[in-house]
Amino acid sequence: MGRNYLAHVREMGNDEKLPPLFFAKAPDMVVDSGTTIPYPSLTSNLQHEVELVVAMKSGGTNIPVEKALDDVWGYGVGFDMTRRDVQQAAAKAGRPWEVGKSFDQSGPCGALHPVSEVGHLSKGRIQVSVNGQVKQDSDLSQMIWDVPHIIHHLSLQCAIAPGDLIYTGTPEGVSAVVAGDELVGTIDGLSELRIRYQ
Ligand code: MN
Repeated sequence: MGRNYLAHVREMGNDEKLPPLFFAKAPDMVVDSGTTIPYPSLTSNLQHEVELVVAMKSGGTNIPVEKALDDVWGYGVGFDMTRRDVQQAAAKAGRPWEVGKSFDQSGPCGALHPVSEVGHLSKGRIQVSVNGQVKQDSDLSQMIWDVPHIIHHLSLQCAIAPGDLIYTGTPEGVSAVVAGDELVGTIDGLSELRIRYQ
């Protein structure tokens, strides 16, 4: 999901009143914590976006808000890595975001924790640091659309299936990553996500 924290919508200069925005990455673009990733092609402005990841155990279409959490298996920390320069050039040309968002190893995801262990997450600190320096620092309570509403709206667009991972948008503070950087993402109660670029 894009544009789900008001301060990030504002830092990117986007409209604050639009309905939820969804885009997709392929499943094989997800990589585990501890991975070292080559700096990707086509970009000179690769940016981190730390996000709460919702792992689905069931789904379907037209899921009511009040039943949406029944389909959640658990939660993890994810990075929606973004070729920002490419994304913005595509948007300016009226083209889809795909080339800026959907590329090899662009969806790192930390260990997933079941609801039975961590409960459902609607608040809690979310951070990312680069080489030990905090870059993004917010709280899940700042999400414009909470997890039940995200699932509901996505299920209107397409069927949600068991095993789907929903990245729920990033707070403000996105910044560029270069080769040699180490990123550590954290959310209260979940395992950290640690990635290095080379
Ligand atoms: Mn994102």
